Amino acid sequence: MFKFLKKKRDKTVIKSEIIVSGFNITVLKKDIKNIHLNILPPDGKVRVSVPKRTDDVFIRGFIVSKLPWIEKHVRRFKEQPRETPREYVSGESHYFKGERYLLSVIDYAGKPNVAINDKKYICLSIKKEATVEERKKILLNWQRKELEKELPDIFNKWQTIMGVSANEIRIKKMKTKWGTCNIKAKRIWINLELIKKPVYCIEYIVVHELTHLIEKNHNKRFKEIMDKFLPAWRIYKKELNGSFLLGS
Ligand SMILES: [Zn+2]
Repeated sequence: MFKFLKKKRDKTVIKSEIIVSGFNITVLKKDIKNIHLNILPPDGKVRVSVPKRTDDVFIRGFIVSKLPWIEKHVRRFKEQPRETPREYVSGESHYFKGERYLLSVIDYAGKPNVAINDKKYICLSIKKEATVEERKKILLNWQRKELEKELPDIFNKWQTIMGVSANEIRIKKMKTKWGTCNIKAKRIWINLELIKKPVYCIEYIVVHELTHLIEKNHNKRFKEIMDKFLPAWRIYKKELNGSFLLGS
């Protein structure tokens, strides 16, 4: 009796830089099957990930063929107003479910809390000596609770429609992804930042991650599944990517 040895995934990554038409492009050679081209936050850096044995001349040719796309997206990225560092003071704009609100910080000696008032203000009641970090923490906790309220209905709805189910759903603050799916564990992470976006964008990410339980890769089949369940998904994707990151 003998066992088949499972081929171990090669996790080494060879990183290099090439310049094409004035763009400094990061090239990552790794154990993958397809080429991925991404524009990354915060400054619109271009990155191409390719299978290990891809020839450099081919990579250059690929990038040249994608130059119009790269130029368009890098430009869009740079035009996008970057989020300024928050100080959590009255008058600051904060987004919630796709709407812009003004933060109103109220001096309050009791247990800190957050509430929406007049459909216009996010009122943060907290002691006046509170530091930026303390104010931020209370607001993030509130955002997390609000997203926690949204997710069960959205997941229940789409799990029923799609006939799949996740074992675990978590909310996480992530820098480069709106959501992730660990297919083996059927564990889905949703980015806390999504609470700032319209609910249909949250739904789009949920459908995207649930689709991974049917199809691992972002291939033709993946898109067909998305088209079937959420025909307008490309519009939502555009809306999200325009404001945060491209790719993934
Ligand atoms: Zn995905």
